[in-house]
Amino acid sequence: MALPIVAVVGRPNVGKSTLFNRIVGQRLAITEDRPGATRDRLYSKGEWLNKEFFLVDTGGMTFDEGDVLANDVTKQAQVAVDECDVIIFVVDARTGITTEDLQIAQILRREKKPIVIAVNKIEDHKKQELDFIEFYSLGFPVMVSISAANGFGIGDLLDEVIANFTEEHDETEEEGILKVTFIGRPNVGKSSMVNKLLGQNRVIVSDIPGTTRDAIDSKVIVDGETFILVDTAGLRRKSKVDDDVEYYSVLRSIRAIERSDVAILVIDATTGVTEQDKRVAGFAHEGGKGCIIMINKWDLLEKDNHSVKEFTKNIRNELGYMDYAPIIFVSALTGQRAHKLLPLAKQVAAENDKRISTSLVNDVIFDSIAVTPPPTDRGRQLKILYTSQVSTKPPTFVFFVNDTELMHFSYLRFLENQLRTAFGFEGTPLRMLTRQRS
Ligand code: GDP
Ligand code: GDP
Repeated sequence: MALPIVAVVGRPNVGKSTLFNRIVGQRLAITEDRPGATRDRLYSKGEWLNKEFFLVDTGGMTFDEGDVLANDVTKQAQVAVDECDVIIFVVDARTGITTEDLQIAQILRREKKPIVIAVNKIEDHKKQELDFIEFYSLGFPVMVSISAANGFGIGDLLDEVIANFTEEHDETEEEGILKVTFIGRPNVGKSSMVNKLLGQNRVIVSDIPGTTRDAIDSKVIVDGETFILVDTAGLRRKSKVDDDVEYYSVLRSIRAIERSDVAILVIDATTGVTEQDKRVAGFAHEGGKGCIIMINKWDLLEKDNHSVKEFTKNIRNELGYMDYAPIIFVSALTGQRAHKLLPLAKQVAAENDKRISTSLVNDVIFDSIAVTPPPTDRGRQLKILYTSQVSTKPPTFVFFVNDTELMHFSYLRFLENQLRTAFGFEGTPLRMLTRQRS
């Protein structure tokens, strides 16, 4: 199921980033021991009362100059109303309503998205009551007073936010069918590849429930296996803001990744890996999805015997944390190797869902420790008492140890490699957690 997207909007200095950090801060702390975890200032997962959502700090978005009429603040508000489910409109109790606040309010009013006003910088509720009431004149009935700086009111704010989440279609009908998402920057060839695959294989035409406005789903049968292909580029939106604004495609990718089993990161061979590719790949990795790196437009490259090797080296460099993902060189135009893509996705999905028995896991871990013991830290030695795979999608291992402080990232990385050598797991991230047991 797609996660709701919550946008934080407001003019500069009202406290958006402070609020953003306050909401996701705890979660970031929890996930910190995950190897390769990428942090992102703009987008992050948040959670309140067991409800997960994506939080977007629109304040970090900047836009190309050229459009002199609209400023960044109003464009940010526009992105929020176009792409998000619930909007937190942050205002500053200490300054009162400003012209920019009014501009934002005007944009937010145009569409009927749920809006919660967070009146920030309220440290003294009694003294600042009039400051708070002033903001009712913006015309949004749901207002909460908060202090992002000290945490006051954040729970009340999130109560209001999650009250607006609607249950989307249950995708039960699609259960058991592999969902494969094509992610990547505009123009890398996502739609071309989806169309190629649809052209080569038997397509089931149906209204697929769960298809969201973020992407177009198609159902296809390959070697008796049914796949749902999700094309995040398939929907070209008509928006008031530029169509190719990065934020749109990133937001759409996030959602599509969430509801898929395997993410195919499409990279244009003629341009290589960009910052946006890295960011989107990071979401697939952190989301624990099966991952494939697809180098498209391979037909356009002048090649010799070393091309594949050199290109691979370069990709591994740029996307280091995804070294488990198979790389496939294809052309959506000529169809070269396109038929290998979905069988590969099937394999990767199986690895992502693989479960290893506790006894096998412990055999491998104990053998590894025997050959390469954990380094000591100020005379103390890490002891791994036992290890267990606690879940799949992605495979998650818990190491029960004498002292979690003694487990270093590099040793965890070593153990991960040992598990991969023994059990494969090609194309899937692994989660490695440590828990204390005395
Ligand atoms: P942004 O530009 O909207 O992202 O705002 P920031 O989060 O960067 O905050 C702007 C300034 O307001 C900083 O100096 C913060 O320390 C301050 N600030 C943020 N939240 C609060 C708050 O709840 N109370 C007070 N007094 N100051 C705050
Ligand atoms: P999307 O925005 O990622 O869905 O990209 P499109 O599928 O719309 O492709 C963008 C452009 O690249 C189009 O002009 C395609 O014809 C072209 N294109 C896509 N795949 C290939 C390929 O493998 N080789 C070549 N030469 N061109 C391609």
